[in-house]
Formats: sequence, C-alpha cells, structure tokens
Amino acid sequence: MSLADVKHWVFDMDGTLTVAVHDFAAIRVALAIPPEDDILTHLAALPANEAAAKHAWLLEHERDLALGSKPATGAVELVRDLHSRGYRLGILTRNARELAHVTLAAIGLADCFAVDDVLGRDEAPPKPHPGGLLKLAEAWKVPASEMVMVGDYRFDLDCGRAAGARTVLVNLPDNPWPELTDWHAQDCVELRQMLSA
Ligand SMILES: [Mg+2]
Repeated sequence: MSLADVKHWVFDMDGTLTVAVHDFAAIRVALAIPPEDDILTHLAALPANEAAAKHAWLLEHERDLALGSKPATGAVELVRDLHSRGYRLGILTRNARELAHVTLAAIGLADCFAVDDVLGRDEAPPKPHPGGLLKLAEAWKVPASEMVMVGDYRFDLDCGRAAGARTVLVNLPDNPWPELTDWHAQDCVELRQMLSA
C-alpha cells in the first residue's frame, strides 16, 4: 500500500498540526506533579476533588495556548489537500476535545474535521492506548490497517502500531523509532510531496 492509497487519516494535534507550545515541565511544577510522572496518569490517580481542581487549571492554561496556536510547517496545506480529495480525517489528542476545536479554528482547519471525529482525552483512553484509533475505525467502518496515524511522538506511533494502523512520523529531522514507523517526513510539506510521489 502506498501512502497515496490511504484514505483515512488520523492526526495528533500538538506538535503535528501545530507548533508545540506546551511547557510540560512548567505544568508539572504548577500542579506539583513529579518530573518523571505522566501528567494525565498522575491526575487520574488523585482524589476526586484534587483531580478536578487540577484538571480545571490545566484546561484554563491550555485554553490560552489553544487560542494562540500556530500551524506547523505545511500542515494547513496538507490537511486541505486531503480534505479536497474527500478523505476521512480525524484528530486523536491527549488535549481536551473542546480545546482541539479551539486550536483547529485558530489555525483555520475547523471545517476539515467532523466534530465527532475529533477525539480528546475524555472521548478515548490517552495514547499510546489504541482505543481512540479503534473507535474511529469502527465509526468509519474501515479496518485499522487502512488507516494512518500521523504524529510527532513515540506515543502516536505506538498507538498506531497497537491498533494495526499504518504510522507516519513528522516534524523530527531524524527518526528515533524506525521500527514503529512506516513513513517518515521532515514536515507536512514533505509528507504532502510523498502523496504524489
Ligand atoms: Mg504531539
């Protein structure tokens, strides 16, 4: 299967379609989360009151970031190209769905994704769990093997592999995870070129 044959595309958002702006170290300090802990996993293990307060802080912090989102190089052109081909497009993010919509609107891509095809941390288990991808596969009535997961981090690739989907790594000059990657592009400009190659 060549990349141009793939008609079902799922994107990570932060660092993939947008320039990554999260300062995870600062978030951990603000929420008293140990440096080595995964933020969402840590919050999930807290007593309900404390977890709710910290989730609320996180949402406010991320809303400011979402409003100021900038598109990653070539991301808008790539998504518009795929959308104009009539391909099915989804988002799988560890961010909140509401903020994913804010972000997509800020970078001018809100019309390319159906609302139900944007899965945030409350609609699916966080990556690397494959649950979100499998949910989209079911909704789209397509085998996961005919989908591609596009991301900038190991979690995106692990998620794709675990679901049985194809994987694309973008926005890293070198690929630290070749065993998890079907296609690697420097950025979305190169990825778009690979579509017509
Ligand atoms: Mg990312």
